[in-house]
Amino acid sequence: MPDIRSRVSEAEWEARVNLAAVFRLAAKHDLSDLALTHFSARIPDEPDRFLLNPYGLMFEEITASSLVKTDREGGDPLETGSPLNAVGIMLHSAVLDARPDVACTAHTHTVQGMALSSLDTELLPASQTALAFHGRVGYHDWESDETELDERERIARDIGPNGRALVLKNHGLLAAGPSIPSTWMLLHALERACASQLDAMAAAHASGNGLDMPSAEVCERTARQFDEFLARPGRDDDWSAYLELLDRDDPGYRE
Ligand SMILES: [Zn+2]
Repeated sequence: MPDIRSRVSEAEWEARVNLAAVFRLAAKHDLSDLALTHFSARIPDEPDRFLLNPYGLMFEEITASSLVKTDREGGDPLETGSPLNAVGIMLHSAVLDARPDVACTAHTHTVQGMALSSLDTELLPASQTALAFHGRVGYHDWESDETELDERERIARDIGPNGRALVLKNHGLLAAGPSIPSTWMLLHALERACASQLDAMAAAHASGNGLDMPSAEVCERTARQFDEFLARPGRDDDWSAYLELLDRDDPGYRE
């Protein structure tokens, strides 16, 4: 691996370590899909560039150095020659371009995400966890496996000005947060909200019962409280606990 650390800023290195940690955490939580899917993080001191995982590495193998610095054109300014996923460049640059408040995006193909994305209903405010996304989830219709760059405009429209998540219909999920740690927290919550909804819908269907939802007023108030939490200094205070968990097991993601 080329000596990436000596060629990037401290801010970029910190983003690399944190994004590599998100991949390792996602692997631990069974949120990967072999070597497919991708996460990105905006480079703090180069806001038009972002980090993306190279094509062909499992989440468990990703390190700070192996992440690729790129841009909306798929450039490789550090000339690593690492292969990148064209859909990944299109998808993540669409959100990062449209939303200067977003620092990190994470895209998954989990069973619960794919299943939720195939339903003819939306993510329901059926759990406290799902309420974090109330009115803050976009839905983007499947277009094709081909990479059409003008799809970026429709992705930006569909996640909207305040979306924390995007359901890619018949495909998967995307979480978008104001920091790398908060994006991990959002992704984890989004996955569990989807899984919980699917279980509840199946149980309701099997038993002939319906689903109870909080009032619209409670849903909106809770989502606003979550907005305030995401904007608060110290929102990422629990991140060091996740890094310690990884470090106990394998600190290799920091390399
Ligand atoms: Zn995908």
